[in-house]
Amino acid sequence: MPKGRIIKALSGFYYVESDNQIYQCKARGKFRKRDQKLLVGDFCEFSYEEGSDGYILSLSSRKNELVRPPICNVDQALLVFSAKEPDFSSILLDRFLIMIEAFDIDPIICVSKMDLSQKDEIENQLRPYQKAGYKVIYVSSKDKIGLEEVKKILKDKVTVITGQSGVGKSSLLNALDIHLNIDTNQISKALGRGKHTTRHVELIKMYGGYVGDTPGFSSLELTQEPLELAKAYHDFRELSHSCKFRGCLHDSEPYCAVKEAVEVGKISKERYDHYLMFLKEVKENKEKKYG
Ligand code: GDP
Ligand code: ZN
Repeated sequence: MPKGRIIKALSGFYYVESDNQIYQCKARGKFRKRDQKLLVGDFCEFSYEEGSDGYILSLSSRKNELVRPPICNVDQALLVFSAKEPDFSSILLDRFLIMIEAFDIDPIICVSKMDLSQKDEIENQLRPYQKAGYKVIYVSSKDKIGLEEVKKILKDKVTVITGQSGVGKSSLLNALDIHLNIDTNQISKALGRGKHTTRHVELIKMYGGYVGDTPGFSSLELTQEPLELAKAYHDFRELSHSCKFRGCLHDSEPYCAVKEAVEVGKISKERYDHYLMFLKEVKENKEKKYG
């Protein structure tokens, strides 16, 4: 059986890429019976005969799954934040990082509009993130800075591009010479701005990898459980094995490895303070929900 990847879903058809060819397929009825959804990004086995539609027969298990847009097996999220206009905000960045890491997707921080900023100043603000293990890249679509680095990051990976509106996501895609790869109409779709009534989901081939639709976080409200929040911090998660208490929320618990790391400067105080603020927020949300 040929194997491939679903790269587009539209009007009941799934488009499967296999060996650089696209096959138009339908899903076998068993998926519907089991209420099993096929997603863009799924790896599948399919059958195909020349001159007719193919059939998707089975799916491989997924490493992650986004809800809006429904895409799975995403490798990374390029999180675009502008240095200026709007001003860089570490608290907003932290919120985005939690959202992304909660989906088990690797975030890459991309600071845009560097032509408008003092380089040293913004690099100082980002240093704690690099120290926490995040990859940070600096770009200016206007002055064509950092574009090669973005291309390297996109290569052979499935990437979603996200960030507040106005930070320069479309400008970045345009500056990447994307017209060589996809037309502008696809760009607007890739950014979720298509005026099409039939909304479809698609992965767009780019530099050997794919770029997916922008995750539309309807709000940046944190809806996870307190422990899930703690686990969305990859560095806290690693240290938590050394906390005395299992399920430590790194708050008022004694012998907490995360708090110790903050004390010795291994974790930035600001990162931790924002975490405590978010923890309070999710606890309050939980109380509101369950009384
Ligand atoms: P999006 O909403 O994230 O897609 O942002 P856009 O790409 O539409 O850009 C929003 C605004 O920022 C536009 O007015 C762009 O001209 C401007 N902009 C985007 N990239 C840059 C940049 O690298 N430098 C400067 N100075 N302005 C930029
Ligand atoms: Zn702890």
